[in-house]
Amino acid sequence: MRKKIVAGNWKMNKTISEGIEIINEFKKLIETRPAKDVQIVIAPSFIHLTEFASLIKGIAFLGAQNCGDEENGAYTGEVSAPMLKSAGVDYVIIGHSERRQTYHESDSVINKKIKVVLKHKLIPIFCCGERLYEREKGIYIEIVKQQIENGLFDLSPGDFTKIVVAYEPVWAIGTGKTATPEQAQEMHRYIRNLIESKYGKSIAEMSAILYGGSCKASNAKELFNKPDVDGGLIGGASLDASEFLEIIHSF
Ligand code: PEP
Repeated sequence: MRKKIVAGNWKMNKTISEGIEIINEFKKLIETRPAKDVQIVIAPSFIHLTEFASLIKGIAFLGAQNCGDEENGAYTGEVSAPMLKSAGVDYVIIGHSERRQTYHESDSVINKKIKVVLKHKLIPIFCCGERLYEREKGIYIEIVKQQIENGLFDLSPGDFTKIVVAYEPVWAIGTGKTATPEQAQEMHRYIRNLIESKYGKSIAEMSAILYGGSCKASNAKELFNKPDVDGGLIGGASLDASEFLEIIHSF
């Protein structure tokens, strides 16, 4: 059976004390409603990581939102994969659309980051997704295909089995506009078929493909109900402990 994953991407939100407050509330809530068969990932900003590593132990995996593409050296402002590993991080979000657009990360930089993350035994959550004009032009499948081929398809089959893919249509991120469950399923099915054509059926069937884009408690159930949607990458709604828990219980 495929892994089910709900990952919270906190982006650049919350001070240290505000973050701890949310986690403590989440811990209290989840004790009363434990989640079965779902991997929970919480990806706060870098400054929260070391503190959260012990705070969330046993209830969630620790995620980072980005990672440098080199292992060390004169790269002011960057945080490397070995540093993340030493902080207790398990998952790293790579290629989020905000990194692609605002920080001009290319497919080749993303591919380099994926490899350095894998080298340090961290699990990449690889993000892909089309912009609004690309959907409207009807080229959304082609865009996602290129992102996946350029970002991932030179990995060995063994390395590919460690990847989590997150389909995040850019027009749905932080906009309140969710893809319909049918739109999500169409793309997730396409991605699974694409993985099958490169790595074979058994790897494709084992690959976790998450949906992201204005996913919240009110729409998570119908999205997660679709056969190729294996969970969610949650932005805004992951900052509210009870909303996040509700999403986790939406399978
Ligand atoms: C995200 O940033 O990955 C995301 C899906 O954001 P939101 O849920 O706020 O749309």
